[in-house]
Amino acid sequence: MEIRVTSLNTFESCPRRWFAENVLGLKLPNAAADEGTATHAVAERWLKQGKGFPGFEQAAREEVAKHPTLTEANITDVVRMAKRCVKNYERPLDMELHAEVRMTMFVGNHRLSGTADVLMVPIFPGEPLRIIDFKTGRNRKPTRQLAVYAYMALNTVATQAAREALVRYDWVRLGEVDEFQYGPDELAETADWVKAQVSAIDAALRGGEEAFACNPSGLCAYCGHAQQCPATRGEYQPLQVAPAEDLPEIPQNPELLTREMAEKYGLQLLAWEAKVKQVEDVLKAWTEKHGAIRAGGKIMGKMETEPSRKYNLKKVFQRITDKGLDPFKYISLTSTEAKKLEKEGVDLDGTFTLGKAQCRWTVKKDDAAAATAAEAASAAPATVGTSGERVDATLPALAASAQQESGKGNNQTASSVVQVVAAFGQTLKQAGAPEGSLTMARQAYRLAEAGKLEETFWDLLNNSVPDGLTPEVRAELVAQLETIERLAVPAEMARAS
Ligand code: SF4
Repeated sequence: MEIRVTSLNTFESCPRRWFAENVLGLKLPNAAADEGTATHAVAERWLKQGKGFPGFEQAAREEVAKHPTLTEANITDVVRMAKRCVKNYERPLDMELHAEVRMTMFVGNHRLSGTADVLMVPIFPGEPLRIIDFKTGRNRKPTRQLAVYAYMALNTVATQAAREALVRYDWVRLGEVDEFQYGPDELAETADWVKAQVSAIDAALRGGEEAFACNPSGLCAYCGHAQQCPATRGEYQPLQVAPAEDLPEIPQNPELLTREMAEKYGLQLLAWEAKVKQVEDVLKAWTEKHGAIRAGGKIMGKMETEPSRKYNLKKVFQRITDKGLDPFKYISLTSTEAKKLEKEGVDLDGTFTLGKAQCRWTVKKDDAAAATAAEAASAAPATVGTSGERVDATLPALAASAQQESGKGNNQTASSVVQVVAAFGQTLKQAGAPEGSLTMARQAYRLAEAGKLEETFWDLLNNSVPDGLTPEVRAELVAQLETIERLAVPAEMARAS
């Protein structure tokens, strides 16, 4: 099968989406992607048509007309971006320039393919090969794409000429560039990554659609498979934000809180933060495509910021001195820069005075809890999960992984329900509940992760509470069950309606 390099990132973010797009051919119309295609086409025509090129405006008009998702309003952007693209066709004297170079190579049984917008091969051996890719998106986020192109180019078209590659992402919409240099080590690492991705695709292809795991995120809203995807139950549910009256009452006077209550609010805070992050991800993806929104007197969306200034400190120093001022009153070393200097081996001992220590509200990783969880995970025997597969994770480890996922904020399964179910399991484990109880809690956790908050989920949770617990532990578990119910039921009702 032919596998496009650009699709490898899709596979990494959601294998099921890769399957939908590359095997089933399901893709949603995407104006942003079409604008990129039109821009590339205009730039290529400028290069190849020579005197026959009708001018940027006319070429853009013709290319925009080929895409039903685009309108006249896109022409200005296409012209602006194409003009920036063609600047990359200027050839240094010691390079051969090739445009729109299609590269292919076999990885296992599959043909990996990609097209470099610009490939410059050095005339003299020893110089790095150069690759430029025009990026028309609004999201400046380099991927592994050009590292893979570099690996392919060095192993196909430019074997003799170069051993290293200099790659550039030209963000033509934003007017920014990102450059990276790849030597033998990075290229070997890239080769390993490519092989791992392709062999994972190969293995999944042998297993059929079910072997491609779903990984829901804010990007589901733009997935052509969302209607059939089991993770979204055939309908993408953006998010259910709990109405204010559903939130637990927070006492105005902190003195009324016990430590136990404070820790519960801490857990709740993490759940809210994870939810806020999810809302942000969805809005970022939406506004990326449809433009900024207005809400509550604010405008939200991607906006151009003032370009940041990079001062030439030598000149600044000189200008301050010229004014008869003391430059050291105005120029200081930040702690980040100091750390960089220390990394370079500059000894800064005795060059600073200590400021006042500050006490600030801080949320950071609880290393002790993570260590306890890891210890418990390694000590516990492997058990069998709901679908019969071997599961080595214990409940504390699951709780830790849920917290980690909530930190990423990009996975719907890492919702507050999942976290509280993990905490529930942890309470059971700490109370010395029998293995049968823990297995039920673990199965409930798996169902929560999969978003299956149905009858079996509740049965498992309720039946997992064993007899013989102390009243305190029982009360703790009941409180956790109530929290799970409060968080889960509104979402389920919304799904059902
Ligand atoms: S809807 Fe989401 S989880 Fe399902 S395939 Fe698409 S991206 Fe993946």
